[in-house]
Amino acid sequence: MDFIQGFNRCQLQMLSFDTMVKQDSWARIVDLFVDILPLKELGFKSTHASEGRPPFDPSDLLKLYLYGYKNQLRSSRKLAHACQVNIEVIWLLKGLTPSARKIAYFRKENSTAFKKAFRHFVVLLKDWSLIDGETIAIDSFKIRAQNSLKNNFNQKKIDRHIDYIDGKINEYQNQLEEEDNADRKEEIEKKIAYQNSKKDKYEEIEQQIKDRGVSQISLTDPDAKSVILHRNVVNVGYCVQAGCDGKYNLFINNDTGTVNDTHALSPMALDAKSLLGLDTMNVITDKGYTTGKHIDICTKNNITTFSSPKDHSSQHNGLFDMQIFKYDKENDFYTCPAGQILSTNGTVYNKNKHKVKHYKNRQACKTCELRNQCTKNKNGRFIERSIYQEALDENKKRVADNPNYYRLRQQITEHQFGTLKRQWGFTYVLMKGKENVLSEVNLMMICYNLRRLMSIFSINDLKNKLKELVLLFLTKYTTYRRIYPMNIQKMLTC
Ligand code: SF4
Repeated sequence: MDFIQGFNRCQLQMLSFDTMVKQDSWARIVDLFVDILPLKELGFKSTHASEGRPPFDPSDLLKLYLYGYKNQLRSSRKLAHACQVNIEVIWLLKGLTPSARKIAYFRKENSTAFKKAFRHFVVLLKDWSLIDGETIAIDSFKIRAQNSLKNNFNQKKIDRHIDYIDGKINEYQNQLEEEDNADRKEEIEKKIAYQNSKKDKYEEIEQQIKDRGVSQISLTDPDAKSVILHRNVVNVGYCVQAGCDGKYNLFINNDTGTVNDTHALSPMALDAKSLLGLDTMNVITDKGYTTGKHIDICTKNNITTFSSPKDHSSQHNGLFDMQIFKYDKENDFYTCPAGQILSTNGTVYNKNKHKVKHYKNRQACKTCELRNQCTKNKNGRFIERSIYQEALDENKKRVADNPNYYRLRQQITEHQFGTLKRQWGFTYVLMKGKENVLSEVNLMMICYNLRRLMSIFSINDLKNKLKELVLLFLTKYTTYRRIYPMNIQKMLTC
């Protein structure tokens, strides 16, 4: 039977390396893109060559990383191997073969520069009118850290371990009292000493938790936290915040630090607004971000929030819903379903980091016929009103009045997360520490935005657009500065 045959390996051929890389290759786009970046101003440093020879050009190493992160080649060893066997990488680096160590150090030493490069790119996209900043959706995704669950501790886990060890020690001590054989006794004493050394280790960790005033501690990556990855699966990782623009669903900014979204709304929204130089903007977020304080901060900074409202706890206990109580803003009191006034003494209390005022009318509640439907509290109905309730109510009304607009949230943010995680394998990070983890996130987001441009423009249009900038950048840097002054300003200040 005939089969399709490959070429003759022994046949000599005259060919240029350039012909071996397709015209629409990701490597070609990365090559052009890195050439338009003012790497020096962005703060890129190259790792020094120990033998005294010149270091590698940061642009070559950045190209290597951008090529690799898009193609699931993230580890420095895989990248070093690709430099020797992957035709596209050999073309991209013009045959350079940096060692895995050099590649790894470049990523480690340029975390701030990666961030600046991403932000520079975002401003460039705004200059190209691909980002308009009208609607920003903020959401988060979780990724695993370089820290096993075994090396993450909270007080409850430490107590459980210490209780177990105490039980073991008691058991061995009982055995010791009953044992007459000297060899056997020595063996048991060794076991007790081993358990005591383990207990010392847990007590040391317990002390660290107390000294730092934190609720949990990770031993391998101190910045990583115990997070729920999905469907109640807990692992140690990072919760990465991402802002995306509604026009072409491009990434705008990112951050990490907290394990949930509760305190991320205003920092992310303000950062996006300042980066894009906007006067006003709309932000769409899910329920996790709905916090009175942050919605209030956004409102005061001309950012209109569309954050899914949270249900009031009274909606689930079978008693009168809070919505039935009418609030009088002018006189600062509530009117209850029985027509009674529930007033406040004006004091602001701290409740679980939330600032609230209390409203009650004990006398009226004592004799109220509706009491059984209203409260189970022996002192009568008691209302806690956040000092940011007005901002929360306005946000709730906006979401209710614009259901179709709110529904854009999923379209704007969630598809990108799927691409990063499922297609590009970004479900875990290779580096430790918040700054280093963010440098990986920034690399991924640059890759995503760049890849997205390949879909928005035709490949040729994109290449021509990038080539124009390369030419400007190489021949007349001052002109480049004049045309894109905002980029330079931003990258120096971010
Ligand atoms: S129990 Fe108190 S708050 Fe509730 S309806 Fe009666 S008077 Fe009003």
